[in-house]
Amino acid sequence: MLQCFKTDDKLLSVKMNSTQLLAEQKNVIGQIFLGTDFSLRHIEDRHVDVNQLRLYKTPEAAREVARYDKEGVYRPLKTAPNLRRGWLLQLKNEEQVCLALDFFYPAALDLYRAWLQAALQITPLRETLERQTGMYQVTRQLSEKGAQKLIGKMCCSKSGCLRKILWPLTADQTRNPLPLEKTAVDQTPPNEIPLLCREACNLLVAAAREVVKGEE
Ligand code: SF4
Repeated sequence: MLQCFKTDDKLLSVKMNSTQLLAEQKNVIGQIFLGTDFSLRHIEDRHVDVNQLRLYKTPEAAREVARYDKEGVYRPLKTAPNLRRGWLLQLKNEEQVCLALDFFYPAALDLYRAWLQAALQITPLRETLERQTGMYQVTRQLSEKGAQKLIGKMCCSKSGCLRKILWPLTADQTRNPLPLEKTAVDQTPPNEIPLLCREACNLLVAAAREVVKGEE
């Protein structure tokens, strides 16, 4: 059986392949539509005539497609909802599909399977910010209001990132103040593989610094 997942210590038991995903009626991940013929395309191109799409035949082409948005601007966050349209990856087997998906959304399948198995390590936002040093040390002062602004309206917002947030603000948080649309993994449509966020990324930390400076 092909394994789409890296086998490091934590995820040793994680196994899944693209055939399984399709058998589970999962044919969407992020902005990508998975065909039953080992093809991938932008979800908004799923009804477009293939002759109108630029054809690629290697999984590595995903890296090129994912690098810039339609304006030619570099995409630092691969889960931002600005994947360009107009391409078709026609691959040969599920191994290539898995590799291409890893270029589009690094480690997304690993995270999903680990989450299904309740084996995902999640880091509260405060813990991530407490680790920051140097110019980012100031992010330790981020207020709850500032965090909500970041997550609801800035980099983590629905228009900024497609990932669902699994982390709480603090380890002892009893009520999650974050917007439901960013946290409710169970509300993902049944045909979609959710993109998950288990720990605040560098972009959020950088944005948190600006918010704290603004609050000052
Ligand atoms: S912290 Fe997570 S949800 Fe927020 S922008 Fe980064 S990857 Fe996306």
